[in-house]
Amino acid sequence: MPKPNSQSKFLDVAVPTPLRQSFQYRSINDDSALKPGCRVRVPFGKQRLNGILLGFSHQPATDESKIRSILEIIDDQPIISGVLFKLCIWASSYYHHPIGEVFSTAIPALLRKGHPSKAANLCLTLTKAGQKTPCGSLNRAPRQKELLQRLQQKITLGKEELIAAGIKTPAINALTGKGLAEWQEQARKPVEFKTVIRDYQNITPNQEQQSAISSISSPRTYLLHGITGSGKTEVYLRKIEDVLEKGKQVLVLVPEIGLTPQTLRRFTDRFAVTVEVIHSGLTDLERLSAWRNAADGSAQVVIGTRSAVFTPMLNPGLLVVDEEHDSSFKQQDGFRYSARDIAVMRGQLEKIPVILGSATPSLESLYNCKLDKYKLITLPERTGGAKNETYQLINLRHKELNNGFSDELLTAIRTELDSGNQALIFINRRGFAPVLYCSDCQWIATCHHCDARMTYHLAERKLMCHHCGTITPLTTTCAQCQSQQLVPLGLGTQRVEETLSSIFPGYPVHRIDRDSTRRKGSLQKFLTELGTAQPMLLVGTQILAKGHHFPDVTLVAILDIDTGFYSADYRSLEKTGQLILQVGGRSGRESKAGKVIIQTQFSDQPILRQLIKEGYTSFASTILGDRQANQLPPFCFHCLIRAESPQKKIAMDFLEDIARGSGPGNSVELLGPVAPTMEKRKGKYRAQLLFSSQSRNMLHKAVAVKILVAEKSKLSKRVRWSIDVDPIDLF
Ligand code: ADP
Ligand code: ZN
Ligand code: ZN
Repeated sequence: MPKPNSQSKFLDVAVPTPLRQSFQYRSINDDSALKPGCRVRVPFGKQRLNGILLGFSHQPATDESKIRSILEIIDDQPIISGVLFKLCIWASSYYHHPIGEVFSTAIPALLRKGHPSKAANLCLTLTKAGQKTPCGSLNRAPRQKELLQRLQQKITLGKEELIAAGIKTPAINALTGKGLAEWQEQARKPVEFKTVIRDYQNITPNQEQQSAISSISSPRTYLLHGITGSGKTEVYLRKIEDVLEKGKQVLVLVPEIGLTPQTLRRFTDRFAVTVEVIHSGLTDLERLSAWRNAADGSAQVVIGTRSAVFTPMLNPGLLVVDEEHDSSFKQQDGFRYSARDIAVMRGQLEKIPVILGSATPSLESLYNCKLDKYKLITLPERTGGAKNETYQLINLRHKELNNGFSDELLTAIRTELDSGNQALIFINRRGFAPVLYCSDCQWIATCHHCDARMTYHLAERKLMCHHCGTITPLTTTCAQCQSQQLVPLGLGTQRVEETLSSIFPGYPVHRIDRDSTRRKGSLQKFLTELGTAQPMLLVGTQILAKGHHFPDVTLVAILDIDTGFYSADYRSLEKTGQLILQVGGRSGRESKAGKVIIQTQFSDQPILRQLIKEGYTSFASTILGDRQANQLPPFCFHCLIRAESPQKKIAMDFLEDIARGSGPGNSVELLGPVAPTMEKRKGKYRAQLLFSSQSRNMLHKAVAVKILVAEKSKLSKRVRWSIDVDPIDLF
């Protein structure tokens, strides 16, 4: 029987397209069970796509005769519901991003393709005929007889039980073929667990940790600011324990690179519960399985990188974002969301606590503490009597250098090696040298696709563009004057490795960067070797700065952070300070005292001195003061419209059109359009238009108006354009 009113009921569906709208469809026969969050298959132009039902409306949005019917209802239960559903809707509106693409980010690829959302947990079940059949009738097929006997005793047998009992497929097929047994899907029951703790590893929280643990209770956002080695993880673990004891689940977000087996092990060593890990290295099936286990409550702890913030949980109790300042939480293309900010919003909607942790919190988060939006908790000392590392500046001005090293630094390195210690040399640039230069005519090797120089890679005998990946053979003659006088200028990890090997021939030198760790497991192998506590030298990029534990490193040398002091990006000072402390924090983490030496042209910079003398909190408050004086975030809000096009000027013209149209209102300032420092990148010319306002509300309204202008612009077909709300990278 047709439902009353079914004629005028339309389905609003989020379809995975880059269009900022939902689409209306007609229902098909039986949709009485259809709920928002269920997948439906819909015709879309000539394609067939899987969309997500947003809701129902009674008014057609367009000509009613043009509204098509859905093809199929995929789910009988929503795959995304409650808080997560609301969270996606919120994120779509906050980031001005098409709702269909937001859902695509939020759900695993296989669900986008239509896979079932629940694991088919197949059990072999006795049929009515099987119940009545005497086992003796199978005397001539002993394996079938044995299986029937078992089934008559247990009624159903799961796959694992069948395997454990040594029952093979032919016997099963024979019984199902005779109609004595059949496969049935069974709802999976959450695994019951009795004890949460596996082992405390003899750790008893110290007084500071104890007070941090007890100040985290009511559902709100906490910022745990603890220097490296102060035992933040122990605070997380204790709070997680409380939550698990109550039978609830925990989601822990870590930066892309921080998710090492070491991190995972700290959780599995502590807890006797199911821990799922979600990161970019999983296969689609692994990801789906982790998603299912979180959704049905059978995984108690989920550790994941950025997009894991959307993992459904049956019964969430706590969210943790470790290294909350890390830029990898911000997606830098497509749907440009901040997983940290979405986690905070999710915590509010779920009414559960959120812990943001860092040794070097972002200025946004510190400012939110000042505003009392977040609660600040500090751990100012290292645990277990380990001393805080000491910092020393080496002034590079007017100094002779040996391949980038001052004599003082080389002496300091020698002292550590001779005392049996390890030293870590940080240089945030891979390759041999960032510039290949002709000393006869001043020609420099540049990339044809970017406004950038080619990096000289000696180990691979190639020139490489680090922005677009272009690789060219190493040339020995100048492209302009054919001279042979080509010189590599500047430092990269390979050059530092080579220099150190020749100065300290008796000690192993290991280079750790994206090139040397490309092969799976190579970083792990290296970390194991490091654990042997032999004196050695480590040369590396940012990879070294994040989360790893180097117990025998007593000296960290930072070779080149100076660009941080004169970059056009107003965030570069904050980032540089964070990097110095994060890298420096690798030194002296156990019984040995640690030392950090920074070589710089800026040794008299007050802000650098403040950082190393007074610590991150004073450093951050000075920068916050500057930001306030200059009315920069977090004292105002930013949104960028970026555009790019293969032809010069088109992106700029497009943004000029948008800037011209009706004004954004006087509380929103429009800056630009301007070309970023590197105008051409990957063969595209880029331009950007910045919106700035003290009022988030006004900012969003202005952006929404300009998006409509952009969508109507004649040039919109000739450019690729995108919205970046709260951009972290302005140049
Ligand atoms: P953070 O994350 O703040 O850098 P970690 O949580 O990694 O610090 O702790 C640093 C080291 O100190 C780890 O090896 C950890 O096991 C140990 N640790 C933490 N808390 C204590 C404690 N209360 N007593 C002894 N050791 C501790
Ligand atoms: Zn030349
Ligand atoms: Zn390039």
